[in-house]
Amino acid sequence: MKFTYQGSPAQIVFGEGSSKDIAKWIDKIGAKRALVLSTPQQKADAESMATGLGGMAVGVFDGATMHTPVDVTGKAVSAALKLKADCVVALGGGSTTGLGKAIAWRTDLPQIVVPTTYAGSEVTPILGQTEKGEKTTLRSPKVLPEVVIYDPDLTLGLPVGMSVTSGLNAIAHAAEGLYAPDANPITSMMAVEGMRALRDALPVFTRSPHDAKARANALYGAWLCGTVLGQVAMSLHHKICHTLGGSFDTPHAETHSVMLPHTIGFNAEAASNQLSGVAEVFGGSPGQALYDFAKSVGSPMTLQEFGLSEADLDRAADIAAKNPYANPRPVDRASVRALLQDAWEGKRPPR
Ligand code: NAD
Repeated sequence: MKFTYQGSPAQIVFGEGSSKDIAKWIDKIGAKRALVLSTPQQKADAESMATGLGGMAVGVFDGATMHTPVDVTGKAVSAALKLKADCVVALGGGSTTGLGKAIAWRTDLPQIVVPTTYAGSEVTPILGQTEKGEKTTLRSPKVLPEVVIYDPDLTLGLPVGMSVTSGLNAIAHAAEGLYAPDANPITSMMAVEGMRALRDALPVFTRSPHDAKARANALYGAWLCGTVLGQVAMSLHHKICHTLGGSFDTPHAETHSVMLPHTIGFNAEAASNQLSGVAEVFGGSPGQALYDFAKSVGSPMTLQEFGLSEADLDRAADIAAKNPYANPRPVDRASVRALLQDAWEGKRPPR
């Protein structure tokens, strides 16, 4: 056995009610003037957090949005400078976390993230940004948040549909992490444990969305799966989802949910050893098992649902086949196009 492993220096705080201790963590990182970030949809929660922080919060910036547009980041940086903020607190999903990272990239301000979805961005050194319709991604320890506070109570109200797709988004990080060229026993262990936690939690949400134990389990799984995403390279699945989101503006978590059975099914034979973890958790052959699981929890199952046409699939295949990421099975344009067709139609994969 031979491997290298790089742990993350970020402080992880997990537990019901843990976001109530946010002032303590602001103090611990040596800050006194937090700017609280959110999307417009979570503005009320951000304002209530800022109110609870009293003099430790200098304001709320509620303009976070999908894909981290640089013009929004510019406005947030101006607000942070004007208010003399000495840290940012990102309250929300991957979009809000992305804004916090983009601010840190430009200003070096420390970040505390309080995640309310299962996207996992809070534990990755990855920042995706868009400018003039083009999405670029960078990887730097500078964007890694200093503190992540996982409070399952804040996820109780995440709508069921979003909980399911966000959970499948997390599972995608773990599944691809298993066959990453730089996978190691620790990330693979995290991947299997993370998938298991989400497999147990997601079906509960469809019956009982506020189940506290399932919410905690899902957030725990999301942390593990996000950590895998942050530590090893991703392959075909993430490349295709990046293409669809970046060039066709398809919804992030939903796109992952639809594509996952097809991309994992495509790699099932070439990476059968590595994917045995998926088979162990979901049973059966990996692509089919993920398809059946996604269907059973009410996930969207076709790319058609996002308004894509077959002509869009041609263009997406051209883009995704260019500069492909490392992948266990060789990838060419024809195979990507066929995969996209199957996902567009929502066919059950052959493996
Ligand atoms: P999101 O952050 O865009 O959230 C979707 C919507 O749900 C928003 O309106 C948000 O305010 C709302 N919401 C979030 N939590 C809620 C809650 N508990 N209750 C009610 N509403 C809630 O969605 P996402 O899927 O978390 O993040 C997607 C973005 O994150 C994409 O831009 C993607 O590229 C990025 N991302 C980045 C990484 C990375 O490592 N850099 C990893 C994963 C995702």
